Amino acid sequence: MALDQDCIFCKIIRNEIPNTVVYEDNVVKAFLDITQGTPGHTLVIPKTHVPDIFAYDADLAAAVFSRIPKIARAIKASDPAIKGMNILNNNGKVAYQSVFHSHIHLIPRYSAKDGFGMRFTDNSAHYTPEKLQKIATQIHQQFSAD
Ligand code: 5GP
Ligand code: ZN
Repeated sequence: MALDQDCIFCKIIRNEIPNTVVYEDNVVKAFLDITQGTPGHTLVIPKTHVPDIFAYDADLAAAVFSRIPKIARAIKASDPAIKGMNILNNNGKVAYQSVFHSHIHLIPRYSAKDGFGMRFTDNSAHYTPEKLQKIATQIHQQFSAD
């Protein structure tokens, strides 16, 4: 378990700054996000300093992501008003990452008007099957470099 001296989430793991823990084991810590986008908004972090999804190896990913369903179920079970949940993982400043210790947001959803929103744009009119294939091939080719 390698922690970073200056990282705010490593400080939360070490309990050097106050946090509201909802679940903890040897692999992850889950605690309430300070902003509470909706009530129960929780962050799940690996107990090792890893900046983003691109830096995970398969074992760490398996260990961290295997914890998500049971934490999600516990949050949902904690309040009958919770009807669903958005699970988000932001990677890179452009993707709204602001803390560079990887974390997964669990955002309980209460109603369409609970204050949380996401916008998906439908750009399908701008794509031909050939254009889609070209993009897929460019990605697919990267696996041979593994
Ligand atoms: P990001 O924008 O990187 O996806 O999410 C970072 C999250 O960390 C934000 O939702 C922010 O509210 C939360 N956060 C930042 N600092 C603290 C803190 O000191 N304590 C807690 N509990 N959450 C924090
Ligand atoms: Zn860290």
